[in-house]
Amino acid sequence: MDPLAARLRTFAEERDWQQFHTPKNLAMALAGEVGELLAEFQWLTPEQSAQVMCEPEAGARVKAEIGDVMIYLTRLADVLGIDLVEAALAKLDEVATRYPVEQAKGSAAKR
Ligand SMILES: [Mg+2]
Repeated sequence: MDPLAARLRTFAEERDWQQFHTPKNLAMALAGEVGELLAEFQWLTPEQSAQVMCEPEAGARVKAEIGDVMIYLTRLADVLGIDLVEAALAKLDEVATRYPVEQAKGSAAKR
């Protein structure tokens, strides 16, 4: 088992929080944290966004929000019995088939 998923499961069990960790609640919490991450980039230019980790305070906030997103995504996947890495690899295989290198290289066109 993923050590992060295991630690989050223990964290929830110790606090008797599994009762609150329904898929619905976790999906909503995940969306909320993604919103907090987006807020860090909201008014930045593309160039500023690419340099955000060079700004100590903004970079620390982005890192913290990425951590929140990872926590809720990992916990949601665990509660649903989904292997996160396996799910991502399966999705990547699907996308690779839809976007073969010879047809997709250098193109952002959707298929
Ligand atoms: Mg947050």
